[in-house]
Amino acid sequence: MTQERIAGVSYGYSPAPEHSEENRFLKENVETLKRELEKFRRAPLIAADVREVHGDKALIRLANGNEFLVEIAAGLQLKPGESVLAEQKNLTLVKKLGSTKRFDVERFVIIEKPGVSWAEIGGLDDQMREVREVIELPLLKPEVFKRVGIKPPKGILLHGEPGTGKTLLAKAVAASTKSTFIEVVGSELVQKFIGEGAKLVHEIFELARERAPSIVFIDELDAIAATRIDLGTSGEREVQRTFMQLLSEIDGFGPLDNVKVIGCTNRRDILDPAVIRPGRLDRLIHVPLPVQEGRKEILAIHTANMSLGKIDLHMLSEQTDGFSGADLHALSTEAGYCAIRVGRNKVLHKDFESALDRLSKPVDDGYKRMFG
Ligand code: ATP
Repeated sequence: MTQERIAGVSYGYSPAPEHSEENRFLKENVETLKRELEKFRRAPLIAADVREVHGDKALIRLANGNEFLVEIAAGLQLKPGESVLAEQKNLTLVKKLGSTKRFDVERFVIIEKPGVSWAEIGGLDDQMREVREVIELPLLKPEVFKRVGIKPPKGILLHGEPGTGKTLLAKAVAASTKSTFIEVVGSELVQKFIGEGAKLVHEIFELARERAPSIVFIDELDAIAATRIDLGTSGEREVQRTFMQLLSEIDGFGPLDNVKVIGCTNRRDILDPAVIRPGRLDRLIHVPLPVQEGRKEILAIHTANMSLGKIDLHMLSEQTDGFSGADLHALSTEAGYCAIRVGRNKVLHKDFESALDRLSKPVDDGYKRMFG
C-alpha cells in the first residue's frame, strides 16, 4: 500500500476509483481466507447410527461400538437404524446422513425365488407337515388364523445334523408360498462385517419387509445366538449387539406380517434361550438323520434322473446307515462317476457298491464333504 493511500483513507478522502476496486478485491480475499481458516479450526463431525429414539434424545452407536445417550438438535427427525452426524464435543446430533443405507445389503445376502418342491425332499414327512402348518399356512391363508383367533409363530428353528435337508425345507416353503428367500450365514455376519453386523441385520429385515412375502433364512444361527457368559472382548460384545438387533427385529414385526424367520443350527445345545422364547423362533423342529425308509426315499429322489440299470434301492438303504441326505446325494453322484469311468451309459448296482467303498475310505472324506 502506498503512503498517499494511507493518507487518503485516514483523512477521509475518497480513494481513487482504481484503489477502491483493489480494496474490495483485498477484502473479499481476506473473507475467503477467514472462512477457509475457520474450516481448519472446526472439529469434524462424527458418524453414528441411531439405535433408539427417546423424545429429544437418542441412543447412538459409534463405529468403535461405544454407545451414548445424546441430544438431538431442534428440528431433526430421526428413526432407529438411521445414520447421523454428531458434534464432537457433546455428541449432539446435528445432521441426518443423506442415505440411511451404509452398504448395499443385497450384495451381502443371497436373495432368490427358490424352485425347490416338496417332492424333492425325502424322509421328512413330519417335518414337512409342521413347516407347512407353521410357515406356509399363515402366509397363504392368514384369515384362517384371524377367524380362529390364534397367532402363528413368527419363525421356526430347524436343528439337526449337517446335510439332513434343513435348507431344502426352508427353500421348499419359500417356493410354495412364492416368497423371497433371503439367506444369511450367522458366522459371516460376525466375521465378515465386523462392527456392522447389527446394522446389516436391521437392513436385512428392512429388505425382507420391502420384498414381502419373504423368508429370512439364518444359517448357522448359533454363531450369533449362542449363550455367552463372558462378554470381555470387543468381538464378543459385537456378536452380542448383532444378536440383540436380531431379537429386536423379530419382536418388531407381527405374527401375521408377511415376513417369517427360519433359523438353522447344528448346535441346538448352545443356543441362547432368548431366541426361542415364545413370540420369537418358538417352534423347534428337529431334522434328524434319515431312517432306512427315509434313505430309500432320498436315494429314489437323487437317482430319479439317472440312467439306471437294475438297482436294489432297498439294499442300498440298508447299507447306508448313518448317511445324511447330502451323503446319499454324494453317493449317487459317485456311482454315476463309476459308470462314466468305465465308459458305460447306464449306472448299475455294482457302481453304487464301488461308490460306497470309495465314500467309506478316509481318503474320500474330503470328496464327501465337498459334495455334501
Ligand atoms: P447344513 O446343516 O450343513 O446347512 P442342511 O441340513 O441345510 O445342512 P441341505 O443343505 O438342505 O442340508 O442339504 C444339502 C443337500 O443334500 C441338498 O441339496 C440335497 O441334495 C441333499 N439332501 C439333504 N437332505 C435331503 C433330504 N431329506 N431329501 C433329499 N435330499 C436331501
